[in-house]
Amino acid sequence: MEKLKEAMYYEKLQDSSVRCVLCPHNCVIKPGAAGICGVRKNTEGVLYSLIYGKVSSIAFDPIEKKPLYKFHPGTYILSTGTAGCNFRCPFCQNYSIARTAPEKVELVDITSEQLVNKALSMVPQGNIGIAYTYNEPTIWYEYVYETAKLAKEKGLLNVLVTNGFINPGPLENILPFIDAMNIDLKGYNEGFYKDIVKGKLQSVKATIAAASKKCHVEVTTLVIPGLNDSAEEMREMCKWLAGLSPDIPLHLSRFFPRYELQDRPATPINTLTELQNIASEYLRNVYIGNV
Ligand code: SF4
Repeated sequence: MEKLKEAMYYEKLQDSSVRCVLCPHNCVIKPGAAGICGVRKNTEGVLYSLIYGKVSSIAFDPIEKKPLYKFHPGTYILSTGTAGCNFRCPFCQNYSIARTAPEKVELVDITSEQLVNKALSMVPQGNIGIAYTYNEPTIWYEYVYETAKLAKEKGLLNVLVTNGFINPGPLENILPFIDAMNIDLKGYNEGFYKDIVKGKLQSVKATIAAASKKCHVEVTTLVIPGLNDSAEEMREMCKWLAGLSPDIPLHLSRFFPRYELQDRPATPINTLTELQNIASEYLRNVYIGNV
């Protein structure tokens, strides 16, 4: 039987149940079951990661594609991801890996050492490090933590592209090894997070606030017609971000009908430019992407 990696953040409960405390879902998981993310499974009272060292995709991307516009512009980064997500966005842009059970995704075994060596071999081509992206990297925690630590020791940079839905303890533990993050702020009301995304705005805000004190942070909002495109919401969001720092770059992405959200058109360009104008009253760097 394949040896799985024991999870770093969980508590043992009665009757061999466990509580995963990696993300704010804090799933209570019965023996034989997995958490909401589908990639952490309770086997006889021990919580295991099902995706440790398992990679679904690997590519050499411009850093601007993450998107990070104010972090080593003009360079490249070795980018990788696995399967699964702890959110349930009906508009998921990467649903084939993020919303599919890990056993149904083609995953390749790559050790931390192999990934770091590959990244090092690409330094002459402009590589600055490793980006953990494509699906949600926080649920890949054990592998990302160990790889990022090793990469840092070898002089490489580490980037997380994340939904920011992680508990404060694991976040603080990994931040010393993370150089930059692009964090999704998917909307600015709790109802949107609770009903559409199945997360909590307050937790994501806590991650952005904590991370922005320790590493370079850029924020991305996918603007979806009728769901999170109100001028007032954008104003409140940018006021809050500016309170952390007016230098935090904000990327406004264009929605296209996809996955389970096919009932509305792509975001009109003028909606994006109007929101960009509002955001620019508070933030120095506001970009429109994905048009
Ligand atoms: S990481 Fe997965 S199992 Fe753990 S609390 Fe979050 S959704 Fe649940």
